[in-house]
Amino acid sequence: MKDQKHFEVIIIGGSYSGLSAAMSLGRSLRQVLVIDSGLPCNRQTPHSHNFITHDGEVPAVISAKAKIQVDLYDTVQFYNGLAISAIKTESGFEVNTESRFLFTAKKILFATGVRDLIPNIPGFAECWGISVLHCPYCHGYEVKAEKTAIIANGEIGFEFVKMISNWTKELKLVTNEKSTLTSEQTKILQKHNIEIVGDEIDSFFHENGKIQNIIFKNKSKIEVKAIYARLPFEQHCPLPEALGCELTETGLIKVDMMQKTNIDGIYASGDNSIQARSVAMAVSSGSFAGASINKTLIDESFA
Ligand SMILES: Cc1cc2nc3c(=O)[nH]c(=O)nc-3n(C[C@H](O)[C@H](O)[C@H](O)COP(=O)(O)OP(=O)(O)OC[C@H]3O[C@@H](n4cnc5c(N)ncnc54)[C@H](O)[C@@H]3O)c2cc1C
Repeated sequence: MKDQKHFEVIIIGGSYSGLSAAMSLGRSLRQVLVIDSGLPCNRQTPHSHNFITHDGEVPAVISAKAKIQVDLYDTVQFYNGLAISAIKTESGFEVNTESRFLFTAKKILFATGVRDLIPNIPGFAECWGISVLHCPYCHGYEVKAEKTAIIANGEIGFEFVKMISNWTKELKLVTNEKSTLTSEQTKILQKHNIEIVGDEIDSFFHENGKIQNIIFKNKSKIEVKAIYARLPFEQHCPLPEALGCELTETGLIKVDMMQKTNIDGIYASGDNSIQARSVAMAVSSGSFAGASINKTLIDESFA
C-alpha cells in the first residue's frame, strides 16, 4: 500500500461484506482503507452455495475475485493484518494495527464477522463446514435424502428437525443429554419416524472431514453422512464493544436501518450484525452500509 495514513472511511474486515462496502464507497470517490486479517468464517468449506453467479465456487475464490475488482479503484487501499485497537478522536477515529501502523478516518465500518465456538468433541473441528453444516440453504441440497443427524435439544432441536426434514427424511435428533422436548414434540417426531438419541457424544469418526459415524460414550454409534449443528458464537473482533457499540441479546452488533451502530460514526455489516448468515446477505448489507456512509459524508459536507 501507499504511505497514505488518513482516509475518509476505514473498513475493518475485508471479506464479502467489507469488500462489498469498499466497492460502494470507492465508486463514490471516497478515500477508503480496508484492513483484513484473512480469516473468514467459511474458510474450511470446500464449496459455497446459494449466492447467484458464484454457486458451488470455492469461498476464497469468490473473495479473491471481489478483491481484484475492488483493487481496480484507486480510491481504495488495502492493509493485510489485524486491527488491534481503535479510539474515537475529535475528528473521527484512530485505528492501530498489529504492525503498529496508525490510520485515521472520519467513519469506521466493522465488517468483521463472527467466530463459531467449536465444541470440544474430537473430530468436530475437522468436519466443520465439510460434513457438519450450519445451514440447509447453503449445503442441504448436496446432502439431500442422506442419513443425517441434528445435534440440538428442546425447542431449537424440534424446530431444526422440522426444517431439515424438508431435505431428508433419514433424520435422527441427537440431544447429547436427556431430551428436553415436550411430550407433544416427541409424539410429532415419532409420527415422522425420527428417533431421538439422548446418549452423550464421545467423538466423530470421519475421513478428511467427511463424517461416517457419531460415536457415543456408551460405545454405541450411528452412521451418518451429514450433521447439522447451531454453534454458539462470539464477535470475531472485540473493537466494536471496546468502542461502546451495543450488542443484541443474541450477541450481534445492534444496527439501525442505515447500518449505524449506537456510536456516532461507527457502522456494522455482515455476519457481525445479521441473524441470517449468508454470503448474499453479507454482500447486500455491506453494499448498503457503503451507500449509507457516503450519504452521511455528503450531508455533513453539503450543509
Ligand atoms: C462453515 C460455514 C459454511 C458456510 N457456507 C456458506 C455457503 O455455502 N453459502 C453462503 O451463502 N454462506 C455460507 N456461510 C456463511 C458465510 O460464510 C458468511 O455469512 C459470510 O462469510 C459473512 O461474511 P462477512 O464478510 O460478514 O464475515 P467473514 O466472511 O467471516 O469475514 C470477516 C473478516 O473480518 C476479518 N477480521 C475480523 N476481525 C478483524 C480485525 N480486528 N482486523 C482485521 N480483520 C478482521 C476476518 O479475518 C475476516 O476476513 C457459511 C458459514 C460457515 C461458518
